[in-house]
Order: sequence, then structure tokens, then C-alpha cells
Amino acid sequence: MSASWKFGNLLVQEKAKLTGYLEFPMIEEKLPVFLVNGQTEGPVVLIMGGIHGCEYTSIDAAISLGKSLDPNQVKGKVVVLPIANPASFYARSIYVHPKDQKNLNRMFPGKKDGTAAEQLAYWINETVFKQVDYMIDLHGGDMIEALVPFTIYHVTEDHQLVEKSKNMASMFEIKYVIGSTGQVPGSTYGTVAEQGKVAIIAEAGQQGILSQPDSVLLQDGVLNILKSIGLLEGEVKNYDSHHLSVFDWYRAEIQGLWYPNVNIGDEVKTGDLLGEIRNEFGEAVQSYYSSTTGVVLFLVTSLAINPNDPLLAVGE
Ligand SMILES: [Zn+2]
Repeated sequence: MSASWKFGNLLVQEKAKLTGYLEFPMIEEKLPVFLVNGQTEGPVVLIMGGIHGCEYTSIDAAISLGKSLDPNQVKGKVVVLPIANPASFYARSIYVHPKDQKNLNRMFPGKKDGTAAEQLAYWINETVFKQVDYMIDLHGGDMIEALVPFTIYHVTEDHQLVEKSKNMASMFEIKYVIGSTGQVPGSTYGTVAEQGKVAIIAEAGQQGILSQPDSVLLQDGVLNILKSIGLLEGEVKNYDSHHLSVFDWYRAEIQGLWYPNVNIGDEVKTGDLLGEIRNEFGEAVQSYYSSTTGVVLFLVTSLAINPNDPLLAVGE
């Protein structure tokens, strides 16, 4: 049994796909969306890209998935939001919304009467997150970030949910899978997991470059997930994952020039020099040493650094 499907301001006919713009009552932003209303009732899955506007590979992966999904082959429903933060995308704004300089991936569940990013988070949570059963949020290295692909799931008190999320995060041909205990508040996947739903982030691509191989890596992983939950037919692939439980971020305390001493994918030990901030005369003014033994998952590649900017992260 299937029927037409109302999603926000849009109405999808039965067994059909619709492309359009999701509109919200109180803000200017309109989000491009693909809505796929499948052959039968079933789970509603959200595939999202562009929460960070310069993570181009993830945006391309979401658009390619939205274009290719065929309602005749889908059991259930799919929502694809490829550019969830259009103002950041067109402003080429690194990390933050151009209107309030706030990171959308720290703002959930948002504020109805807040600043631009807080309001956008509020409406995405109300209109989208609360209407879906699963969320796959695609990211990558930002304009000034190199990274090795990895996935993240949220560790909550709900052990069954954590197990399901961990399984879903392991469905990509991506080695590193991180169980995060939520030291970063306001994230997409943490907010959706707290609603009792399976939610993950997958990261591939970097530095403002659209990488087709990394886009395909993300797309194949998403399709594998859709098969694993019965939304698509086909064989489910299993991969060997390397599970990490600590995600250690290092941030700048001062302004200066960032000289990393490691590369992405490097194994580091406690006490290893990770990099240093130098002044404008080339003298080291602050050094960063690893507080754990693990692997460098992302690395900021901008020479210019401001206080509180991320520098790199080590997964353990
Ligand atoms: Zn991101």
C-alpha cells in the first residue's frame, strides 16, 4: 500500500519522485530537496549534505544519490537534502553561517527566535529530523582541511541504538569508525540520536576540491546502508572497520602561522610534536604535543590561524 506523501510544504504523488524547495515559515532559506516516495510503506531515510557549505564532495554525493534513486526500486521513503546550508555554500564560508558566524553543526536543535544558524537548525529539526527514521549526514574536510575518510556515530545510554548506529557507520568502505560520546554539543547526528533514531556522519573529500572517487565512496556506502535496512534490494557488503572511541581535537589559543609536523593518516604517540604556531618572524610561539596514541584524522592546512580555530584531531 502506498499513498501521496506530504513533507513540509511539498506533496509527493504515490510511487513518485519530486524535486523542489523546502520552505520554512519564518526564514528566507529554501533548501533544495529530492523526495522519493517508494513502492511500499517503509522507513523514512534522510540523506543530507552541505551542513558545511564548502564540503563539496559530500554535496555532490548527495545530489548524485538524489538523482539516481528510482521510486520504482524503493521500499519506503527517502529525503535528500544536498545543500542544507545554502547561504554558507554560496558565500564559500568555512565552518560557519555567513550571517552570524555560527557553526550549524553545533546549533541543533536550534532556536525559533535565534540568529540565522540557530533558526535554520530549528526548522531543519522540526520539519526534517522529526519526520525521519534514519539520518545519514555527509561531510568532508572543509576548504582548509585535509582528512582521511571516517564515520562517526553517537554513543548514548541506549545500547541497542548505539549498536545499530555503529553497524550503520561501518557500512562504508572506510577504515575508521568513531563512537563519539558527544563532547561536541548541537550536532546533527547527536540531536537525531537523542530522538531515538539511528544517525551517523560520514566524512570524505577535502580542501575545497570535488573528488569523484571520494563522492563514489560516500554514495556506495549510503546505497549499502539502504540495502541493509531493506529500502533497496541487493547484496549488502561488509567491511573491516577500525573502531575508535576517542576523538581528540586540538585548537589554537593564539593567532599566528600554523606549521603542522604530521600528516593525515599518521600514527602518533603520546608526547609526539603535532605542530607549532609561529609568529610572523618565523619563531615558534606555541607547540602542540599529542595527548594520546592514535591516528591523525583531520588536519587544518591553512597557514593563517585565529584563536579557537581547530588545528587537527587524533582518533584513538
Ligand atoms: Zn562538516
